[in-house]
Amino acid sequence: MVKRSNLHTHSVFCDGKDTIEHMAQRAYEMGLVSLGFSGHGPQTNNGFGIRSEAEYAAEVRRVAGLYEGRMKIWLGIEQDYFGYCTIPYDYRLGAVHYLDGRDGVNHPVDHSEECFERMLREGFGGDAMAMARSYYEREVAMCEKIRPDVVVHYDLICKFNENNRFFDEQDPAYMALSLDALEAICDGRRLLEVNTGAIARGRRSRPYPDALQLKRWRELGGHVILGSDCHDAEKLTCGFEDALELIRWAGFRSVWRLGEGDELFVEDTI
Ligand SMILES: [Zn+2]
Ligand SMILES: [Zn+2]
Repeated sequence: MVKRSNLHTHSVFCDGKDTIEHMAQRAYEMGLVSLGFSGHGPQTNNGFGIRSEAEYAAEVRRVAGLYEGRMKIWLGIEQDYFGYCTIPYDYRLGAVHYLDGRDGVNHPVDHSEECFERMLREGFGGDAMAMARSYYEREVAMCEKIRPDVVVHYDLICKFNENNRFFDEQDPAYMALSLDALEAICDGRRLLEVNTGAIARGRRSRPYPDALQLKRWRELGGHVILGSDCHDAEKLTCGFEDALELIRWAGFRSVWRLGEGDELFVEDTI
């Protein structure tokens, strides 16, 4: 049985809509056994991210105290390739949100459709495969650089690509880039997030990564965990049922989540 939990959430400390306390309250009401906060950490390429890690950590620990014995709350951080952190966290999510285009601009991958189109056009001369190569190379580099516990929203360049609008996600050349990078980042311990964030925002009908990538991850001996990349407390578990179906389809017999006791990550049979 899969117990409810979410390790990928954002609050008003970065770009989320709700306070830590409100999110915890909603999570508890929705029956989550554990909840992790994963604010965007500071980064060197721009001023985005949590301004005071100490204040953020103190607030998460304070609210964790309010729910002690009822719902376990963990202190996490979402660390970009350009990210760094100055205090210890219970866990770190690793992400790629920016690519360096040939135009010398550091382009955001997922800010908006307009930004994405500009990145493809001006940063990569309209060459989607070159953009994809750059993205997957950065995924591998991010894992080597920051060594995250969980790789999140792998495949983020597909966020605005519903119905293959910009490139064909089934193109063997594209798939090879994506699958080869999975092989490079799989170490048997690091978890891969099945991310429903774009479903919550009405951007996609499916989670990332896609079914074939998940299948490859399983063949590589990797394990998966659910995350909704939640920026709105009402969508804490948005898309989880569909994501579980996908995980089962890919052949997994278990899914991981944040523990409700002393153990950080635990496994549920599905
Ligand atoms: Zn992210
Ligand atoms: Zn996130």
